[in-house]
Order: sequence, then structure tokens, then C-alpha cells
Amino acid sequence: MADAVIEQIKQRVDIIELLSEYLKLQKAGSNWRALCPFHHENSPSFMVSQDKQIWHCFGCDKGGDIFTFIQEIEGIDFPETLKLLAQRANVTLAHYNPSQQDKKQRLLQLVNAAQQFYAQALQQSQDGEVARNYIAQRGLTDASVSAFGIGYSFDTWSRLKDYLKAQGYSDSDQAEAGLLIKPDGGGGYYDRFRGRLMIPLHDINGTVVGFTARTLKADETGGKYINSPQSSLYDKSHIVFGLFRAKQAIKKLNAALVVEGNLDAITAQQHGFPNTVATSGTAFTEQQLLQLKRFSSNLLLAFDLDAAGEQAAQRGIDLALQHNMNIKVVRWPEQYKDPDECIRADAAVFKEAIRQAIHIVDYWFMQASRDLQLTRVEHKKLFTQRILPKLAKLADHVEVAHYVQRLADLVRVDANLLHEQLAKLRGGKGNAVKVKGQGSAVSNQQLEVRIGRLGWLSIFWVSY
Ligand SMILES: [Zn+2]
Repeated sequence: MADAVIEQIKQRVDIIELLSEYLKLQKAGSNWRALCPFHHENSPSFMVSQDKQIWHCFGCDKGGDIFTFIQEIEGIDFPETLKLLAQRANVTLAHYNPSQQDKKQRLLQLVNAAQQFYAQALQQSQDGEVARNYIAQRGLTDASVSAFGIGYSFDTWSRLKDYLKAQGYSDSDQAEAGLLIKPDGGGGYYDRFRGRLMIPLHDINGTVVGFTARTLKADETGGKYINSPQSSLYDKSHIVFGLFRAKQAIKKLNAALVVEGNLDAITAQQHGFPNTVATSGTAFTEQQLLQLKRFSSNLLLAFDLDAAGEQAAQRGIDLALQHNMNIKVVRWPEQYKDPDECIRADAAVFKEAIRQAIHIVDYWFMQASRDLQLTRVEHKKLFTQRILPKLAKLADHVEVAHYVQRLADLVRVDANLLHEQLAKLRGGKGNAVKVKGQGSAVSNQQLEVRIGRLGWLSIFWVSY
């Protein structure tokens, strides 16, 4: 059955247009090429033929058509891919009726129905006033509220459950979608989210897969925010908040602006920063970084790196550096407690802060020297101890050489010595270190350091 449909979709969806949403394609003769999204590389070996509507990577040998590409990059199976591309091509799938399809489809519909219920409660119910007041206080416009599908959950035990039941959804399905809780000690299901501002969590395609819910009470005991639990629909580590709306802007502006809070991301998008996303807890996971990297390798971090959760944030930054992403730190004027406050007070000020964002390594240098006097020998030592392990995490060898020299100048130590220490640091983490010397009294030596799967990093120095 599907063959004719597949052909029809292929005719309607241009491979270049589709892949351009994920990759930076450049014309190469009659073909197009890009850095492969499926393996790490520094020069592009991923080729696309527009005439033949196929792609192939000469680096990792993956290849295929639009269907295999979407399956691979979105991590979804063939029926889902078919559905996605059919929608895009405006082709009706006669033999693929979503309403009778698998469970996942049913659960997605259920979550969608819940989102509409919450949104309506926000707009129309008397109880929703507390949420409407909060939204006004945060300065969110109607357009933002509707673009993100924000809603309100009644402060009752079964309002949503009863509504969804009347729509034909079973309690167990509702629980599986994360909307109901079944008490451990027995008893019936009840609504998980009660009396809260409901912020939908969308996947990269804009499908609602879960919720984050903010309390509207001053004396909340259940936590300021509660989220949908991990489920077959919602995987926390895969969701970059706001990306479904920001992805094209991230590509166009060639940078993702990252803020801490979900509502902050909405505010930023509303005030002329359409490339804003949020990662809850500020720590990136590998999957989140890979999603962002499809649109740009540049990250602008606009959250307090010294605040709580610094270690988690640091792990995320290390991971991004390992993936060869460029990170800059945005510092807003001190009178504003966070980007949200700064943007709402004066978006132009924040725009200027972005323009003056500093490279993450420059930021490290600044932070590490803040409480030190680099004229004092013990402080020089301390400074070096703080900076070198961070430099060991950089993937780009030109960058490493540049910053080692900077460190050498600052502490007035021979750069060669620092390179040796750096090599030890890298070597000490179980990476193979191989020295190719020529054995003469004066020689150029080359040290090659294997850094994980990123390949060989070469450091050159002259020894006497
Ligand atoms: Zn490849």
C-alpha cells in the first residue's frame, strides 16, 4: 500500500529544504554538503543530491532518503516518520488512521486534550483568575500564552480526570500519561496537578508531551514547580524548552540564547529574542545539546553560573565543549536579579549584554582570578591549578594553545611547562599519551594526546 504514498511524499518534499532545517548545507558542485549530524567531524563529508533526493555520509557511511534521514535524526520509527512527512507534504494516509493507532498516539491525544482543558480553564473559569493575575504580573501577553498553550489546573482532586473520562480516556491511560496519581496505599486515582499554572512541554515538533506546573500559592508545600513524571511520552533529558518555536530563529541568528526558567524563555521570545530556550536546572544533557547543535553550534548562556546547581551547569558546559560547541556567557547589569527582570525593564540593555557576551574561557580566567593577586607566587600557583583543568577540556587545539599562552603571560611561567602539565592532566584521565621525539639535543617534539572519541590533539613545543 505504502509505496505509492511514499513516492508521492518524496515528490512533494524537497530533500534540500527538509535537511536544511537540521543542517547547514552548502552547495558543492551539483550537490550539497554539510557536517554530518551522525558522527563527529570537522570537515564536511555528508553529501546530498537534490536530483536523486538522496544523502550519503562518506565519513560514517550512513545514507538514504528523506525517510531514513528523519528516522535517524528524530529517533523515531518508520510509521511515525511516514506520518510526519505525510503531514508536511499534505498527503492523506488512507491506511494509517491515528485515532486507532498505537498507544503512544492515544496518550498524545490525551495529553493534548488535557492541555486544551487547562487552557480553557485559564481563559474562562472564575477560579482561573489567580493564574490570570500571575500571568499579568509576569508581563506575559495573550499571544505568548496562546503560542505556548499555557493553562490552569483547578484546585480539586478529579476535575481533569472526570473531564477526560467523559471524553473516553481511561484512568490508567491518564495515569500513564502522567496526569493522575494512584496512591501507594490503595484508593482511587486523583489529579496530579492542582491549583497551578500549567506550562506545556513541547517536543521539537511542537507536540505537547507533558507539563511543568508552577504553584500559585504563597504557602505551597508541594514544591514551587512540579513536572510530569518520565513516561513513554516525556523524557526530561530530551526536551529543550521553547525549541519548537525557537529553532528557525536559532538557525537564522546562528546562536541559541539559553536562560534558566521556562517562563523566562517565553518572556525573552516575547521581547524580541526569538532564539531563546530554557534548560530546566541549567544542566545540558547530551541529547539536548545534539538537538540544539542541529540549528547552531553557538550557545549564549544567560544564567548565573555561580548560583546553586553550578556543578551541574559545569558538567553541561564540559559536555558542550566536548561537542565542539562555542559558548559565550552573557552578563547583564547587576541591578537586575535575572535576565527576565533585565529584559522586561529594558530589552535594549539586554541586547547590548548579548553583544558583549564573553567567551567561556575568558569567563573562567576572570572568575578564577577574582580573589587573587597574581603578583604573589602562591596565588599564581592557585590560579594555574584552577585554570589548567578547565583548559584540558577544550577540544580545539588552536584555542588550547591560545589560552595556555595567556595563562603563561599572566603567571609569568614558561608556556612549555604549562603544556607539560596540561598533557599530564589529560594523560591522567586514562587517555593515551604518545611522544614522538627525535632525540637530538635541540629538537621539535610533538605530543599527541588522544581525547576520547574526538580524535588527536597535537601540541607542539620546542625543547632545548
Ligand atoms: Zn557521518
